[in-house]
Amino acid sequence: MAYKVCIDPGHGGSDSGAVTGKHVEKTYNLDTALSCRDELQRYGVKVVMTRTTDKFLSLEIRCEIANQNGCDYFVSIHHNSGGGDRGEVIYSKAEGKGLQMAHKIAKEMKVDMGQTEVKEYKRLNKSGKTDYYAVIRRTNMPANIVEICFLDNKKDVEIADTLAERKRNGKEIAQGILKHLGIKVDEKGGEDMVDKIVLYHGDADVFAAIVVAQKHKCPMMKESDFKISGLKAKEVVQIGGKSEDANRFQTFKNAAKLL
Ligand SMILES: [Zn+2]
Repeated sequence: MAYKVCIDPGHGGSDSGAVTGKHVEKTYNLDTALSCRDELQRYGVKVVMTRTTDKFLSLEIRCEIANQNGCDYFVSIHHNSGGGDRGEVIYSKAEGKGLQMAHKIAKEMKVDMGQTEVKEYKRLNKSGKTDYYAVIRRTNMPANIVEICFLDNKKDVEIADTLAERKRNGKEIAQGILKHLGIKVDEKGGEDMVDKIVLYHGDADVFAAIVVAQKHKCPMMKESDFKISGLKAKEVVQIGGKSEDANRFQTFKNAAKLL
């Protein structure tokens, strides 16, 4: 049976969370969480998101979403503030699987996210009897809160200040969860790597690219889009844009050699 994991991007809507200059926690949390979801789904894990848009949700509702969906695990994604320099993973006083998952996530943060220090801990209310954080206390399943880095620490925020980094961070959190679930993780490959791709330079090269891509049974893309896509290919077949391609006829002649 497939595992079901609730991913909770902290804050949202009127509640921005921590804000330092251009770094807005609710947005960073969502960017990271969506990537985390995608990576988990790639391995067949069912994901329940508390939010996928910029909207406000109470802590109670977040817990209810996880509880009512019968999730096996709950992971809330945050970015910290208050001038520290580290990541944090918080687990419940029940420890057990929540503690084990925290270890796995913290390890990914250190090894693959470049977070120098990750503090793993539980925090109890003054009474010492219940968990301090509502999303850990009110959820019925093992739960972690992940604080990726401090937004108000110039050095620490460097691991999350671009969208590409936040996507990576989400992927790494997912890989920590997957490893905890005993699912084998393909660290390097995955959806960003294709065997072969045809890249065309300009719109005049599209037709030649279609023919070549069909022949090679591989996807095709505009060269400029490929450069910003983050995709990688083991083999690139280039159509047009080379110095010998003086015009589209020459491009087609060159493309014909690839058929
Ligand atoms: Zn937060």
